[in-house]
Amino acid sequence: MKRKIKVILENYLKRLSDNQSDKVSNAFTFIKSKLGSIYPGLSIVRPLIRLCDFIIVRGNGNRFIEFELSNICNARCVFCPYPDMLRTDKKFMHMNEQTLDRIVGSFQHFKGVLVSFTPTTGDTLLHPEWDKYIHSIIQLPQVGRATMFTNAIELDLEAIDRLIVLLRRDRKGKFSQLYLSLGGYSRDSYKNLYQVDRFEKVRGNIDALFKRLKLEKICLGVHFHIKLEKGVEPNTDLAMNIYNREKYPYVYVSHSVSYFSNDAYKRNALIDYYSESSEDHSRACAYLNKTRFAADGSIWADGCVISEMPDDASLKLGNLDLGWETLEAKRNELVSNWELNREIPQPCKGCTMYRPRK
Ligand code: SF4
Repeated sequence: MKRKIKVILENYLKRLSDNQSDKVSNAFTFIKSKLGSIYPGLSIVRPLIRLCDFIIVRGNGNRFIEFELSNICNARCVFCPYPDMLRTDKKFMHMNEQTLDRIVGSFQHFKGVLVSFTPTTGDTLLHPEWDKYIHSIIQLPQVGRATMFTNAIELDLEAIDRLIVLLRRDRKGKFSQLYLSLGGYSRDSYKNLYQVDRFEKVRGNIDALFKRLKLEKICLGVHFHIKLEKGVEPNTDLAMNIYNREKYPYVYVSHSVSYFSNDAYKRNALIDYYSESSEDHSRACAYLNKTRFAADGSIWADGCVISEMPDDASLKLGNLDLGWETLEAKRNELVSNWELNREIPQPCKGCTMYRPRK
């Protein structure tokens, strides 16, 4: 029954426009922050908070901001083009304060937007001042809600302290979800998928995070994105036993048994890939409506892991020296070239993440 309600809710949320999704998701972010202040003790509150998390996440829409504080990574995942990028002329760097200030100025063009601190390649926690930068963005009135995606390798005790301060300063509870990218169920799987030996370190970091969140009585939605190798069956109970030893109540598990790719992507034999959807591709991809603020101050459409391929900048809209109208004109040009002239940008050719614009 519970599952049936979720499916109905999910289908309803899918049909909303981007504006409507933002409104619903922002409203439930607000409700969650109010309910969260009642925690702990009232067990009746837990399912309500979990329901809020469900709606907040399903209401993310297709038009959010991907904010890249750093494009440097501490792993070499086999499902990411980062190792190939390292062999190109791309500049690997952390965002600086001048770039941040200029991006802050451009937020007047957004309203109630979701900001996802998720680099195309890289890990946010490697930025030396990630907490200060995130705070300066989420306190902007144009930001409705925020999330972060990290591999948790750097989520040590000091980082947890900084996260707690960030969450405490976030009086409106906009930062209500945290996504953790995790490698399989064993040290060997982790090493195969991430090409670094950090399985136990990450588990220890997550234990410490959950202990602290419970101590501080903070209800942060924590999403495990568990990557699996070819042939490994997803097992949510096992995932919870391995990564949620503290039994934190606001944990949600999803598994990647297939991975995204496009025609330019170098495939790896360890993992399975989605096949390209048979959907008619006459409409441009909905994700072109996303905006990515890159660490070097450039601005891109989309921001997913395969939206920038080695030596390719077809989804780049420009940089902060250009006016916002010019950047949006470039986005419109990408869309109209696709829909009128069938000129599909390089990363979108054969992209298995494609979803048609409404
Ligand atoms: S088709 Fe793929 S690469 Fe292109 S915008 Fe959509 S998700 Fe991004």
